[in-house]
Order: sequence, then C-alpha cells, then structure tokens
Amino acid sequence: MSFKSLGLSESLLEAIQKAKYESPYPIQIQAIPAILQQKDVLGIAPTGSGKTASYVLPILQILVGKEKPKDRSVPVLVIVPTRELAAQVQEVVKMFGEYLPRRIKTMAVFGGVSINPQMMNLHGTEILVATPGRLLDLLSRNSIQLDKLQVLVLDEADKVLNLGFKLEVDEILSRLPKKRQNVLFSATMESSVEELIDKLLHHPVKIEV
Ligand code: AMP
Repeated sequence: MSFKSLGLSESLLEAIQKAKYESPYPIQIQAIPAILQQKDVLGIAPTGSGKTASYVLPILQILVGKEKPKDRSVPVLVIVPTRELAAQVQEVVKMFGEYLPRRIKTMAVFGGVSINPQMMNLHGTEILVATPGRLLDLLSRNSIQLDKLQVLVLDEADKVLNLGFKLEVDEILSRLPKKRQNVLFSATMESSVEELIDKLLHHPVKIEV
C-alpha cells in the first residue's frame, strides 16, 4: 500500500516523502480515503498510531481545492485536550502544507498564555487547533466565527472529557452549523465517549487499530 494509492495529491506526496514516511500506517490506509470522501469517521486509535497524519493530510487536500474565506469564519476546527497536542498538530499541518499550491494558515490556541497575541493572529486561519476553554473565550470575544465550519475534528476525545471539558464541548457543538463533516479519535471507548459519538457522528466509518 502506498500513500499515492490513497488518493493524495502530488504536493502532499512530496511533503510525505520529505517527512520520510515510507508507507501509510493502518489507520491512515482507512481514514485518508474516508475523510477525502467527506464521510464522518470514528477512529479508535492511541497516540503513536499515526492518527494525526490520518486526518491532517486529507483535510489539507480538501481545503486546498476551496477558496480562502474572506471573513473571520474558520472552515476546519480541531479540538484537542492539551496545549502540547495543539502545538504538535499545528506542526504536522505546517509540515505537510509546505508544498501545496496555496498557503493554508493554521493556528494553535490554548489557555495558560495571554489571549491577545492569539486574537491578533487569527485572521485568515483555515485550520484552527484549539483547547476547549480558550476556544470558547475567543468565541465570546467574537474573534472567530464557526458558523461556516466544514470539518470538525475531536482528537483524543476521551482525554478531552476526562479533563472535565464536557460542558465546554457541548457549548462549542451548539454553535456549529448542522451540515458538516465530523471526525472523532479516541484511545478508549468509555461510556462518556459513546454518548459524544452518538451526538456527533452520522453513520461514521469506524476504524479500530
Ligand atoms: P501520532 O499517532 O499521530 O502522534 O504519530 C506518531 C508518530 O508516528 C509521529 O512521530 C509521526 O511522525 C509518525 N508517523 C505517522 N505516520 C507515519 C508513517 N506512515 N510512516 C512513518 N512514521 C509515521
């Protein structure tokens, strides 16, 4: 199995080669085509499985074929539990975005640091990687709009819930447009995650690695 056979564009293949990824991991073999087909995806996958590239690559390919938003609306939101993961995901987006025909701006926002520099830098962001509390803060200040969101990724959903972010996640979900693509990754399938899956995903492609 090769990355090329998964339907990724030449510019992404170039970045994959530069990253020295020789062949796709099992989660990537299943998730990349499903996300490219704009289906909802449920991935039961731990850290280290290659889950980040499995959603970043197809999302970059989807976005690059669309026009840049002209307002403050963000087309892709990735919710993560911690600032460390937010920063890691942002790095992966930057790495794979390097050779695309147009630049796709990504930003990581998280609490524990001053909100002002984050607010000032948000303009034009197409992939926003955020922890739940800081995201709500930015929403309440009208720094971003999620009313035109196309793809929602909830990464490490079990950890997001175990850190006590359930109410925040519910509040964020209530602000999203109904018609959108949803991708959820979790290392475990505890009951709180199942509840969220029922609420969030429509006929998802299920992947377990
Ligand atoms: P993740 O589970 O997304 O945190 O990825 C775990 C590690 O695997 C990261 O260091 C990635 O750079 C690496 N990785 C992901 N996919 C591949 C691949 N297909 N080939 C080689 N390394 C990979």
